[in-house]
Amino acid sequence: MARTKIVATVGPASDSPDMIRRMLAAGMTVARINFSHGNHDSHIRTIQMLRRVAAEEGHVLAIMGDLQGPKIRLGHVKAGGIPLAVGDEVVFTPHPGQPAMIHLPHPDLIAVIQVGAKLVIGDGEVEFSVVEKTGDTLRCVVTVAGLLESRKGVNAPGTALVTSSITEKDKDDLALACRLDLDYVALSFVRTAVDVKELRALMNAAGREIPIIAKIEKREAIEHLSEISDAADGMMVARGDLGIEVLPQQVPLLQKEIIRCCNAAGKPVITATQMLQSMIEHPRPTRAEASDVANAILDGTDAVMLSGETATGQFPVEAVQMMANIAEITEQAFPYEAWRQRRRQQDVGMPIDEAISAASCEVARQVGARAIVSTTVSGYTAQQIARHRPETPIMAISPSPHTQRRLSMVWGVECLLVPDFRDTDAMLAQAVESIRSFDIEPGDKLVITAGVPFGTYGKTNLIQVHEVRE
Ligand code: PGA
Ligand code: MN
Repeated sequence: MARTKIVATVGPASDSPDMIRRMLAAGMTVARINFSHGNHDSHIRTIQMLRRVAAEEGHVLAIMGDLQGPKIRLGHVKAGGIPLAVGDEVVFTPHPGQPAMIHLPHPDLIAVIQVGAKLVIGDGEVEFSVVEKTGDTLRCVVTVAGLLESRKGVNAPGTALVTSSITEKDKDDLALACRLDLDYVALSFVRTAVDVKELRALMNAAGREIPIIAKIEKREAIEHLSEISDAADGMMVARGDLGIEVLPQQVPLLQKEIIRCCNAAGKPVITATQMLQSMIEHPRPTRAEASDVANAILDGTDAVMLSGETATGQFPVEAVQMMANIAEITEQAFPYEAWRQRRRQQDVGMPIDEAISAASCEVARQVGARAIVSTTVSGYTAQQIARHRPETPIMAISPSPHTQRRLSMVWGVECLLVPDFRDTDAMLAQAVESIRSFDIEPGDKLVITAGVPFGTYGKTNLIQVHEVRE
């Protein structure tokens, strides 16, 4: 089994028990529900189906709800689209039904965009430069020729919107995510930590505490990476929109920067978009795509994500399988020694739990342990261990089904569910007992970490080496 986690977006191509069963078997660990599509009834049906199938198959599956955010879209244009050549001029209006003008139903964008700014349609299919603003209309000249089609996404790189990153639709979708008790919520177009905090406040008001994945797809977010990493519970390298906001050629290095930031914080990071894009139509990926998945893993990503490949593609199961295979092969040559050196460089003045986590990796290596066993209530300690990428398998032991599912997003961690434990001895006995079902043999050593007293978040302070007896 791959140590890298696999997020698969559920859509028309995969929204059936049979497909989900096969995708679980192929290695999917997180299902992504994209709130940009479908409606609440369809989401409820899908989520119930996912839980039922995962339970039937005995798989741990986390479900992530992905909030659309302030995605800007064109209104409707005439059927078949409008072909545009470089130098053509068009006028955008926030009002529908204006002949000779293009409907852009976002007065907030039109209000703040400046003459000379860029408007990018879709994935760069058409580009405009703003020539003139009169009242609430926008006269633009085509700089990249192409076909302008209905409801295409619009990006205005460099233009900062003053409105919130959380729209009314997002609030509605968030309420559903809370009601259904999803395992992660992803927030699109995060700009600063304020967006993340606002989402958390909304959730807390609903009495929930769902971990937040901040999608990094705006230039502003890049400038506020470390504060976003403090405020969020994880990040997504959302390369689709990011590659429009900045240049595609800047994406590779930003990917590494975002991943490094999350690794340092011990928070899960997902690398997303176009990873196996050609598998939407073909049963095999391009060699460049296979390399892309491998390189994201070598960068230190926790999870790799499939979007269109599993949502609407012709080969959803094959795409998951391919991702898992690439991960397994890449992990065989994972540069564990380089990560160990990195770990050893940060050895002065660490908080106790971090020192224990780092030490458990080292002790496990020194005694040739079969596994690092992390007893964890919140999952925090397991994440702290995983961020060091030890070669030794990491086994989390938790009384919380939430934690068990959430750890399906964290590199290298397998989580077993145990009854609540109260004291050290009972917990250690539990840990050893639960791990027996894995092929543990007499003489095997387990490095066990725990926080005493139990139930205190981020207070791991104990490390024990246990030798398995008959
Ligand atoms: P999206 O986010 O698929 O929701 O747009 C991912 C991305 O932009 O890459
Ligand atoms: Mn996006």
